[in-house]
Amino acid sequence: MVDPTSDLDEDVDESNAPACVVCGEKLIRDPAHHVVTWVADGSIQVRHFCSEDCRGAWDDSERS
Ligand SMILES: [Zn+2]
Repeated sequence: MVDPTSDLDEDVDESNAPACVVCGEKLIRDPAHHVVTWVADGSIQVRHFCSEDCRGAWDDSERS
């Protein structure tokens, strides 16, 4: 479990790191980490990308 009182940058490892939705790369303290968020059906959707290239390769129409 992630301690909700921890800073966001703490306790990130292979098991709880987000993965790039394009290439599947684990994003562990990646300075090039991009996040896209939007709201769909009343909930927040989040997609992670390892780089601007992967962000550009992702089709925005995949938002649902
Ligand atoms: Zn990627």
